[in-house]
Amino acid sequence: MIQVELIKDLKENIKIAKSSNKSIGFVPTMGYLHEGHMALVNQARIENDFVVMSIFVNPAQFGPNEDLDRYPRDLERDTKMAIEAGVDLLFYPQAHEMYPKDGGISIQAGQLANVLCGASRPGHFDGVLKVVTKLFHLINPTRVYFGQKDAQQLAIIETLVRDYNFPLEIRRVETVREVDGLAKSSRNVFLSEAERKQAPAINRGLHLGVDYFMKTFEAEKAKQLTIQHIEQFTSGKIDYVELLSYPDLSIELADASTIILAVAVFFEKARLIDNIIININEV
Ligand code: AMP
Repeated sequence: MIQVELIKDLKENIKIAKSSNKSIGFVPTMGYLHEGHMALVNQARIENDFVVMSIFVNPAQFGPNEDLDRYPRDLERDTKMAIEAGVDLLFYPQAHEMYPKDGGISIQAGQLANVLCGASRPGHFDGVLKVVTKLFHLINPTRVYFGQKDAQQLAIIETLVRDYNFPLEIRRVETVREVDGLAKSSRNVFLSEAERKQAPAINRGLHLGVDYFMKTFEAEKAKQLTIQHIEQFTSGKIDYVELLSYPDLSIELADASTIILAVAVFFEKARLIDNIIININEV
């Protein structure tokens, strides 16, 4: 596996791959890898000749009181996992390499960022778009892999790619879970032992809500069932539970063929998110 920290080395290696007409699959991450990330790499391996992974804890997407400084990092372990998964090139830049000078130009996520995590984390998705735009230009991938666990991020990036004609394909990958249903996340290490035992109630609550919605099409009651379950079985504080159309994230469900029930919960040291996306017509 090629390992590069500098943009000039990244570009050099991308040029070599492109010159032999290799398709490039790209997996952007913030590291502290787990099986969720590995699922993205596995799909990228199958569909492309050359797989690039980035590991960058992007300061631009963290708010002032968020967990940028204590976000878990372990580059040595990540490197081993990336090699085992068959990544061809690992790019792990420092912040000053990615953002050497701020020209004051920003990319705004717009109305899709007014709900869910965007409403609780002002500027978060602008920061996500800043980094992915740079990475897309540097890597020039054929396909880019994102997890449905971060469903709003996926919807916003798909919109960026569509509206601004990025010459690449976004591929969605299903959420990978622990056996008890908890969505795998780098932030799960921040859960206390008691919280870890409670946390699967998030996914169970989502299932209760979705099942009820599919039978009745009553969104408010469906959300209440999810809220009640999470409040009853965890010590976490709910940030939001929302039922929206997907990927346009509207509360107007009348014409929706696909819906998302999404939740964010604050525990003592971690804010966890999860969702279920379901095609109404296929059930
Ligand atoms: P992160 O390192 O948390 O920024 O995530 C990098 C990529 O991995 C994003 O596209 C996430 O949606 C995806 N991802 C994170 N957790 C999971 C999971 N449990 N299952 C599938 N994809 C995931």
